[in-house]
Amino acid sequence: MRQFVCPSCGAGNRVPVDRDPALARCGRCKAEVLSGAPLDVEAKAFARHLAGTKGAPVLVDVWAPWCGPCRAMSPQFDAAARRVGSGARFLKLNADNNPELCAQYAVQGIPALLLFLDGRLIARKAGLMSADQIVDWVTLAAAKAAV
Ligand SMILES: [Zn+2]
Repeated sequence: MRQFVCPSCGAGNRVPVDRDPALARCGRCKAEVLSGAPLDVEAKAFARHLAGTKGAPVLVDVWAPWCGPCRAMSPQFDAAARRVGSGARFLKLNADNNPELCAQYAVQGIPALLLFLDGRLIARKAGLMSADQIVDWVTLAAAKAAV
């Protein structure tokens, strides 16, 4: 059983492993649970997804509008999210608006990718990555999660 958080109402939605979460609709508000696009989150939504996503990785892109490499990575991150589809939750966190979270996870430079599994930080990468590199990295983590 996997669980994802509805981006619209925040409800936890359990999805059996043999069902494609990409087709899942929220049990409470009927919104799409996983649209295949990264979600822009602030601290509250970040915490909700971290706590409520189970059995699938949560990948967070820490970025800022003034950061050139972050802007360069943004389409790569979007492409990776489309390709990984329902295998992981993709989030974008604005570093300027969330200094506490950056401090908590010791983010020293951006872009930074943080990979969480069942609420725990399991891996991190700093610097620009291609969609291929992101997909490979998350796929490996997702395979570990499935064990
Ligand atoms: Zn909902």
